[in-house]
Amino acid sequence: MSKEDKQPMLPGEHVASIEEFEGGKNTYLASDGTIRSTAVGTKVYDLKRRIVKIDQKNSPMLPKIGDIIVGYVEMMFSSMVSIKVMYINEKKSEAGFSAIASARIGSRADMERRGDRRATFHNGDIVRGRVISLLNSTIHLTLAEKEFGVLYALCFMCGGDTVRTKESIIKCVECGAFEDRKLTHDYGKETFRLIHKAGK
Ligand SMILES: [Zn+2]
Repeated sequence: MSKEDKQPMLPGEHVASIEEFEGGKNTYLASDGTIRSTAVGTKVYDLKRRIVKIDQKNSPMLPKIGDIIVGYVEMMFSSMVSIKVMYINEKKSEAGFSAIASARIGSRADMERRGDRRATFHNGDIVRGRVISLLNSTIHLTLAEKEFGVLYALCFMCGGDTVRTKESIIKCVECGAFEDRKLTHDYGKETFRLIHKAGK
């Protein structure tokens, strides 16, 4: 006899206590003595054998290669950015997936012109990218094409609204600060508003 809990689980999430169940597939015993998930999926209990496992095949709307992701920058590393997924193919995703993308985007000429080998991101920037790999259960995005990159960002100085002034420059309408970003071809608040509206 088995019972499935439809709530999506994320890697590291608490699954059960060892007093209740034994950990099965896609689980591990954490240092605090609880059973935790190693994968994105749903909990399946084997009530007879008292085993709980995480079933990956029923995981809700896990992105596929080629899917278009819209999310926000949650963390930055030296050459990578971590992006919290908000929309998958314009549909709202509530599963809390994180994706990673290389911050080294654009042609060598672009980078030399900017005098920097990396594109600039800030926490909270709204970005659009395409899924290029799911290696090791990690969602890898590219931000390099013209429709990808930063879709909308608030001013890093004052949090004000920004507009595009040149191909890769945004300007704050409040304080006038300029910033260099890898922008999408349709950069702006209106684009994000439309995605937000369509994805509801
Ligand atoms: Zn500003």
